[in-house]
Amino acid sequence: MNYYSLNKKAPNTSFKDAVIKGLAPDKGLYFPESITPLPQSFFENIDDLSHSEIAFEAIKQFVSPEIPEDILKTIVEETLSFEFPVVKLSESISTLELFHGPTMAFKDVGARFMARCLGYFNKNNDREVTVLVATSGDTGGAVANGFLGVKGVNVVILYPSGKVSDIQEKQLTTLGHNIKALEVNGTFDDCQAMVKTAFLDDKLTSKMQLTSANSINVARWLPQLFYFMFAYKQLHNQHKNIVFSVPSGNFGNICAGMMAQQLGLPIHHFIASNNANNVVTRYLISRLYEPKPSVQTISNAMDVGAPSNFIRIQEIYENNYEELRENLSSYSYSDDETREAMLEIFNNFKYVADPHGAVGYLGCKEYLEENPDSHCVFLETAHPTKFLDVVEDVIKEKQPLPEQIQSVMGKDKKSFKISTYDELKSFLLA
Ligand SMILES: *Cc1c(COP(=O)(O)O)cnc(C)c1O
Repeated sequence: MNYYSLNKKAPNTSFKDAVIKGLAPDKGLYFPESITPLPQSFFENIDDLSHSEIAFEAIKQFVSPEIPEDILKTIVEETLSFEFPVVKLSESISTLELFHGPTMAFKDVGARFMARCLGYFNKNNDREVTVLVATSGDTGGAVANGFLGVKGVNVVILYPSGKVSDIQEKQLTTLGHNIKALEVNGTFDDCQAMVKTAFLDDKLTSKMQLTSANSINVARWLPQLFYFMFAYKQLHNQHKNIVFSVPSGNFGNICAGMMAQQLGLPIHHFIASNNANNVVTRYLISRLYEPKPSVQTISNAMDVGAPSNFIRIQEIYENNYEELRENLSSYSYSDDETREAMLEIFNNFKYVADPHGAVGYLGCKEYLEENPDSHCVFLETAHPTKFLDVVEDVIKEKQPLPEQIQSVMGKDKKSFKISTYDELKSFLLA
């Protein structure tokens, strides 16, 4: 598959180059040249397919011929070595739990898939690739874990000192080997600005191959379309219209769901559930797209003022506002509403949701008021103990720490403190 830049000022390129570059030379996001729907029989027989088989069929066209089929089979099997259960809360609402991976964030799947693709492309290459990533919390851990031990790939993670949770900090600073954590004296925006400067620094990029591991990278973005297929497999026998409510920040996950729909998956409608960072909610009402600086909320992985993947959504709908509106609703909720939803889910269904999932739940409820015959699935994007303070404060109950979290808590943090871009640059060149 070839990919083109959405800025349309760079040459089309292969999957391999798109993964290694991350962003096109004209700074545009890459998008596949074509999307061929899967045969009807694939969806009719989905009950007979394993998760790996579903994923293999779904992603094949996007990565071939650069990744041979036997290698791709191994990559998806290794990527998907954990569960993706749907938990039914009521006749009309279910949740798809995406937090059973090694760092208990849904980003594990994209990070693991991308790491294996890059490892494959780089295995006979003497030029190392450096993955440079800024994190406000969950991306860093998933990327660190996914790339640990991948030959020919170094990972450098920038995180804002004192602004990620203890668990998140342990997940990114304790692995060692090819993973380095830089503790930045500043905010997440400062970290992101340094990463951007590095990508634009010709002196640096002429000396080393830098790539990103955010959802702008096609190898991290596309595998997220698997989730929607796994949920469909578990729910299609109910014979109701299936609707997904996706707690959204950079809109990579929901955009991947729309790719699954383009492949023919019978998804009736999407809901982009937002916290106070609601540029898309406002766009669908006013038709005006007005990004704003992000504001801090308790669902902090969605604190994004200018969602990077929205441009890919526009491309899927060929910039047709009416068509997009037909297929996408968007709602926005305050932190108070989110806390109330967490309590309601706990009291009514004996289920503990994290703040992001709770925002998704609210999206389902609002949509179902107008469309009571649908079945709405909200994505649980992180395990509730990753947001322990908020969760325990709301439901007034101690939560046991899962094994994945316990195993990092005892380890020693190793980070390197920096304050300026020059310090980052010296670190990278050393
Ligand atoms: C990253 C993240 C999101 C937002 O996903 P996008 O693909 O950026 O829209 C939601 N919830 C959690 C827990 C996340 O880590």
